[in-house]
Amino acid sequence: MSRRVALVTGGGSGIGAATAALLARDGCAVAVTDLRADAARAVAAGLSGSGHRAYALDVAEESRVSAVFADAEREIGPVAVLVCCAGIIISPPPAPPDIADMEAANWDRTFAVNARGVFLCVREFMRARRRSPVADGRIVAISSAAAQLGGYRGSADYIASKAAVIALVKVAARQGAKHGITANSVAPGPIETPMYRAAVPVGAEGPMLGLVPLGRLGQPDEVAAAIAFLASREAGYITGSTIDVNGGYRMQ
Ligand code: NAP
Repeated sequence: MSRRVALVTGGGSGIGAATAALLARDGCAVAVTDLRADAARAVAAGLSGSGHRAYALDVAEESRVSAVFADAEREIGPVAVLVCCAGIIISPPPAPPDIADMEAANWDRTFAVNARGVFLCVREFMRARRRSPVADGRIVAISSAAAQLGGYRGSADYIASKAAVIALVKVAARQGAKHGITANSVAPGPIETPMYRAAVPVGAEGPMLGLVPLGRLGQPDEVAAAIAFLASREAGYITGSTIDVNGGYRMQ
């Protein structure tokens, strides 16, 4: 990759941090954004190359999404690659509530981050690129195998919010095409990150691994590799797709 600017949400941890590292290695200048400024700063400081920046960004806050995009474009340059990794699980496995027992407030909060947050970032990216086009624009958003399977251990709010990501990306793929922008999602299976470990302690992953043909958890850099490929110029004929990175847990 030549010097393209990538903006990564949720870039302070897990899959987002691994993606920021890989895009930087591929030659991108990376805007690392995360809820916690210190986490974003620590990741940005460790990236190879120069010109990276860190920003505090809660993707659920409409005005912050606009402000951070504007700051990143002014300080680094026009964003060519948007990667939406920020996400939350309010009711983690192993005991997500039945729909009958769910709190609507939890549904709203999960959607505010996982679905609306992706919408806000995609909208801001589309607005910026309509004002000032870049060649080979890319959107990559993280869904989940849970959305494809109707969930296995997660709660309805999380699963439905991740299904919304797959659908939104397809709309972005149709609308972005005329501006040279591709949009795709990545659907990870169980990946060893802080989010996963908050739900499944070390040593308790056995039952899950029995369902994964490769017999192990995925690593953040294995998801980052798929994201970086979708972000590359070489992936220019892939749009509206969902790439599975799940150890064979779900096969089409
Ligand atoms: P992670 O390590 O917890 O990373 C998620 C990052 O997003 C964290 O830094 C988190 O900050 C941040 N974040 C949370 N709410 C945010 C908000 N409102 N605005 C901006 N950033 C926010 O988890 P991960 O596993 O890498 O997750 C990355 C993505 O992959 C998520 O969308 C997740 O749903 C998806 N995913 C993960 C798995 C898996 O098995 N790990 C499987 C399928 C899909 P805090 O740490 O401060 O909360």
